[in-house]
Amino acid sequence: MIMKLILNEKDILNKSLEKGYIDNKKPINTIKILAKHYLSIGMNVRQTIDSINNFLLKNMDKYNSVKWINSIETMVIKIHKAKDYKLLDIKQVEITEKELDTIKNIDNEKYEKLAFVLLVYAKIYNQINENDKNWVNAEHKDIFSDAKIAIKIIEQGKMIYQLVGMGLVESTVIVDKTNIKVNFANKESKVVLVISDFRNYVYEYLRWKGRNIKECENEECKILFSPTNNSNKYCKNCAKKLHNEVKRNTWHKNKDKYRNARQTKDPVNP
Ligand SMILES: [Zn+2]
Repeated sequence: MIMKLILNEKDILNKSLEKGYIDNKKPINTIKILAKHYLSIGMNVRQTIDSINNFLLKNMDKYNSVKWINSIETMVIKIHKAKDYKLLDIKQVEITEKELDTIKNIDNEKYEKLAFVLLVYAKIYNQINENDKNWVNAEHKDIFSDAKIAIKIIEQGKMIYQLVGMGLVESTVIVDKTNIKVNFANKESKVVLVISDFRNYVYEYLRWKGRNIKECENEECKILFSPTNNSNKYCKNCAKKLHNEVKRNTWHKNKDKYRNARQTKDPVNP
């Protein structure tokens, strides 16, 4: 699942305004989006703070004004100062043939996956910053989690350093957070891959390379996954859910049968 970045603030704002949606894991995300919205329609700082407070009061479970008011004020003042009310609306990222060829030429799948993920990040950051500088500013753990490479933090730094050695990226600091510039982006070449689903997107690359990658057959899911055997039709999550559902249904169907069986066998109350 990609990064901590929220790519579709516009959709989220609509969901909030229409249905009272709140990002319960990180309410500050909702606060930020609402702040941009209210300021953009001409409210002043005070009105914006009040509107957000009212929104949360109405829609958030166990909302506590006292606990949240400082965070709301800080966020609203920050956005008002920056005058940046634009809502992110990143729908897709395009990957070109030359870029993919460069990645494939690394000829080491772990490094290929890392390079691919960095390229996707760079293209997302280009859209966020409205430039073509290909700079990535993200935490290593997010990058490696997206790349599905499970290694220690120290090894993460080393892998990035290897890409620097190959001339594919440049980087400023190597701690756990680094600014990385992707050098092999080439948007002049033909677009071969369009990524619009940022869950498991590293599999797009593996699929392009010809690996056996499937799309989950649950219409509401459709996530890409790497099947452990060829008969897998669903991703792990959906397979598990389906399995539980089948188990539950079988139990319901047989419930009366079991109950009758138990009653007839009851030796204490014949
Ligand atoms: Zn699924």
